[in-house]
Amino acid sequence: MNRNWLKSFTILALLTVGCKEEKVTPETIVETVDPYKPLDLLTSSTYTKLSVEIAYSETNPPATLTVDNITQFLKDRLNKPDGVTVTLHKLPPTDSATMKLSGVRRLEELQREGATSANTLAVWIVFLDTEYAGNPENDRLMGIAYGATSMVVFAKSIDFYVKADMPARSTLETFVLKHEFGHMFGLVNNGTSMVTNHLSEDHENHCSNPECLMYFKAEDNIKLNDLVGEDVLPVFDEDCLADLKAAGGK
Ligand SMILES: [Zn+2]
Ligand SMILES: [Zn+2]
Repeated sequence: MNRNWLKSFTILALLTVGCKEEKVTPETIVETVDPYKPLDLLTSSTYTKLSVEIAYSETNPPATLTVDNITQFLKDRLNKPDGVTVTLHKLPPTDSATMKLSGVRRLEELQREGATSANTLAVWIVFLDTEYAGNPENDRLMGIAYGATSMVVFAKSIDFYVKADMPARSTLETFVLKHEFGHMFGLVNNGTSMVTNHLSEDHENHCSNPECLMYFKAEDNIKLNDLVGEDVLPVFDEDCLADLKAAGGK
């Protein structure tokens, strides 16, 4: 089950509709030649600061709370003594109903502004007004961590489940970003060593604990309460946290 993290990433398959209907999508492996490693994110040995650029199609910006949530999440989990900064970058419409990963990469080449330099590691996240061209029938991918520092969120697909003006929007966006960052952190045999084996038998790079954020169907544990109560999101379990800490994260 050992695979070269530099060459492979796992696509996150989602999601629940409201709190009831469940959808599951087979995992897909994506090839990449990104030069960075999970350790560059987790530790301060090479990069003491993280700079996250969130680019977005103008009709599909991330919720403000999503940006706050993910900034705090990165500060909590990563060893970046000189800080974590997030900047927003508005993009023109894609004018596409769907986009292949090759198109997402091309867009990144054209639009990505942040670059890694000296002690600062740059991460690119793009929220798109389009759906993934590789969606399986009757299902929608919400996010793909397609490089060591690159992630796409198909915000148009999130619209299908939670509208932009609903309070639960940020909960769902936060879940997608956290799970995808889990893959970029190298969790569950994706480049970061496991302290104890908790690899799912059937779903590589996913945790065997059904309660964990890195479970292949972690979306089953999302509870969206748009009218009453608080939304509930799965978090990293003890095994995933132990791996993060052992590798130099927090
Ligand atoms: Zn996943
Ligand atoms: Zn776990």
